[in-house]
Amino acid sequence: MRFLFPGFRPKALTFSYDDGCCQDRRLTELFRKYGVRATFNLNSGFLGCKGPITHGGFTVPFDRSEPEEIGALYRGFEVASHNATHYNMSKHTPETIREELTADTGALRRLTEQSVEGFAYPCGGFNHHSHEFLAEAGIRYARTGISTYNFTLPQNFYYWNPTCHDRSPRLAELVRRFTEGEPEEMWLLYIWGHSFELDKDDIDRWDNLESHLQALSGRVDIWYAENIEICDYVTACRACEVWKDRVYNPTEREIFACRGAERFVLAPGETRRL
Ligand SMILES: [Zn+2]
Repeated sequence: MRFLFPGFRPKALTFSYDDGCCQDRRLTELFRKYGVRATFNLNSGFLGCKGPITHGGFTVPFDRSEPEEIGALYRGFEVASHNATHYNMSKHTPETIREELTADTGALRRLTEQSVEGFAYPCGGFNHHSHEFLAEAGIRYARTGISTYNFTLPQNFYYWNPTCHDRSPRLAELVRRFTEGEPEEMWLLYIWGHSFELDKDDIDRWDNLESHLQALSGRVDIWYAENIEICDYVTACRACEVWKDRVYNPTEREIFACRGAERFVLAPGETRRL
């Protein structure tokens, strides 16, 4: 028997974008156009600050999202924490990390009127205690900046390595493999980036991203989900107890699975004979 994503889908797609800047306006519209879901990781302490930024040899606009537009701009997407002022988790004292984290999650919860349970490590910095601070602050997963270049799910959601950055030269090949492949286990394509980088003018990066969205959108074999939805669902699958002749779903959510050609939904609390 094997687990599938909701709707019996064997694959999931998610996006994660950091720093909350003016290019998110164009990016959220693009994601809405193609019906994909994403997570935006914001620094509440920088909301409303004005750019530009010089990054990787390019200077591009970097006006941060305004506090009063957060609710509407990110409606339909997950808003997650990226620390109030982008503190690197590996370089500060426990006290400062706690302050940064609680200030950010508190402000983002107020502005979005939603729970904030996700996190992306600023500058990709973490250490082996990071998950303790995150769990204390009610965070349930955290994304690193380490690319896997594959479609595997993380063993530990507090150190969640994405598939690759949106500027990776390997992305086109990964999108092709992901859409054409027929997985024997759940596959996740997880793309991350910064929307301000899409304004770099060496190549048309917006156009490039849109061509990937065209290839990935509207497919019945892909579950389009925010980071937190994937974390929740996979955690529930992993909580199920599987024996040779039966499976038990102790969680409060429906779990989709199959055995050979037979597909079935495990209801909350259900034990099913295999
Ligand atoms: Zn950042």
